Amino acid sequence: MATPPPSYADVVARIARAAQACGRDPAGVTLVAVSKQQPWEAVEPVVAAGHKVFGENRVQEAMARWEGRSQGLELHLIGPLQSNKAKEAVAFFDVIETLDRQKLARALAEQTQKQGRMPRLYVQVNTGEEPQKAGVVPAEADAFIAACRKDFGLTIEGLMCIPPVDEPPGPHFALLAKIAGRNGLSKLSMGMSDDFETAVRFGATSVRVGSALFGKRASA
Ligand SMILES: *Cc1c(COP(=O)(O)O)cnc(C)c1O
Repeated sequence: MATPPPSYADVVARIARAAQACGRDPAGVTLVAVSKQQPWEAVEPVVAAGHKVFGENRVQEAMARWEGRSQGLELHLIGPLQSNKAKEAVAFFDVIETLDRQKLARALAEQTQKQGRMPRLYVQVNTGEEPQKAGVVPAEADAFIAACRKDFGLTIEGLMCIPPVDEPPGPHFALLAKIAGRNGLSKLSMGMSDDFETAVRFGATSVRVGSALFGKRASA
């Protein structure tokens, strides 16, 4: 296995330190390496170093990048999913982190039946109630999770959030953890390049890190 790039080794070490500092086992935090909009030259060394878990925000882009290379890897969809792309997403991804509405829940349930394959699912919560952001608002999260389970027969693994850029993330992470707790969910996908250590402190079981690993993205 190739020597990990310094930025990768650094992020892994920072996750471990953040976990240890609050008495958590570093193995309880999964690094989702966000490879969206990155050139393959930036991503390849992290694959070569043996990293297995990658995140992408667009279905087509992810398929183009990972088709034929995804053997043994775990691919997460972390961007909004249109229900008309549910078929491709169910066929391709191991984890879909952006379930946030009934129409999509129905489409995913249908595709599960048809394909006999179900990606692990996270419900995205719009903790900052930002109008431009995807996710179910906190007040509707319990009912939505219940509907996913009861009306659509879906197994929900955990919750995901993207806090507002201009606010301290801690309260948002705490809110996500609270909603998860009262719904019997133990997995929390939260924390990005600028705040993953804070997220670990608030109980993140996976952090989604892009630019700190691969450098600045080509476009927004
Ligand atoms: C792009 C993206 C990330 C990674 O962001 P960085 O700040 O580059 O670490 C994480 N989560 C989601 C949902 C994203 O779209």
